[in-house]
Amino acid sequence: MDDSAYQFLFSAFVFVLGAAIGSFLNVCIYRLPLDLSINWPRRSFCPACKEPIPWKQNLPLVSWLVLRGRCAKCGSRISFRYFAVELLTALFFLAIWQSFPWQVTIVYWIFISLVIVATFVDFEHFIIPDQVTIGGTIAGVMASFAVPELMNTDSRMVALVRSLLAAVLGYLILLIVLEAGKLAFGKKRIRLDAPTPFTWTRQGDDADFVVGSERTLWSDYFAREKDRLLLRCDEARIDNHTFGNVTLEFHYNRVTVSGEESVLDHVAQITGVVRELQIPREAMGRGDLKFLAAIGAFLGWRAVLFCVFAGSLLGSLVGLFTLLVGKRVWSAKLPFGPYLAFGAVTWIFFGDAFVRWYLGLLTP
Ligand SMILES: [Zn+2]
Repeated sequence: MDDSAYQFLFSAFVFVLGAAIGSFLNVCIYRLPLDLSINWPRRSFCPACKEPIPWKQNLPLVSWLVLRGRCAKCGSRISFRYFAVELLTALFFLAIWQSFPWQVTIVYWIFISLVIVATFVDFEHFIIPDQVTIGGTIAGVMASFAVPELMNTDSRMVALVRSLLAAVLGYLILLIVLEAGKLAFGKKRIRLDAPTPFTWTRQGDDADFVVGSERTLWSDYFAREKDRLLLRCDEARIDNHTFGNVTLEFHYNRVTVSGEESVLDHVAQITGVVRELQIPREAMGRGDLKFLAAIGAFLGWRAVLFCVFAGSLLGSLVGLFTLLVGKRVWSAKLPFGPYLAFGAVTWIFFGDAFVRWYLGLLTP
């Protein structure tokens, strides 16, 4: 067999391997945030009818196409995400295999798998599971010890230390951003000098929130699905219901009063008298901090800085774009994890070129 035939066969093998791993990543993406076991049930099942899927209908890429994205048993739609994750994993496996020596290839295959799980879980649930972030950090440190060239050195011990330091740097750099954000935006708990009247008035997709003489935009308070805003009130009125001495617990899309939940889409106005506010100020979850630590453990300190830079740049561009397009829905806030993932993937393939270009700017 000549060299090109061998190359083609091996490429095909790597692609199929990637698709099969992608199929497993789909299981992780579905089960990890729900705290379901990865190993049990062993067989994949349809999310709608819970029927196990026989292996013939569970072939990566092929099955989704043949069944045209529907469950063979109950006919309900199977998300395009399943196909997309399998294809994406297959393509990345191939691209990595063609770009790096085999030891690095294996490490990057593991890393890209973690990044794909983190990205898709964060998109849907606004969290990144600890299995991915903490587990990823440990895996990254071990990988650097096993393959020191990941950290640009021949020494295993030097690689181990560099990997650990890069993980710490990743965690700290976002922690500082997080704490600085809290300082800049003021205290989280605000005790008012005197009971103060407030109004919450719907304005299309958003709402005006006025406390005393201060007017704010409702959507500015919420960055994440789990963000809570608490109002301790002497009295409150939600449309036609009146409450005395209650705490209103708001999420971006709903309010809970004495165990009763109302969807804000169905509420026109809330008024009352407030004594104390507690506002959410974490635009980033702790998951992002741990995720950047894992990226550092695998890719080193320069990648950490690059990810923060590239992620923020892309985040601002996307923010600007949604602002220009005009439709800013308060549920449409994007999680930060996928931006970090974008930075990490860009770094793997173009990091060296970027550093050369950057150094070229410094030394003309
Ligand atoms: Zn089904």
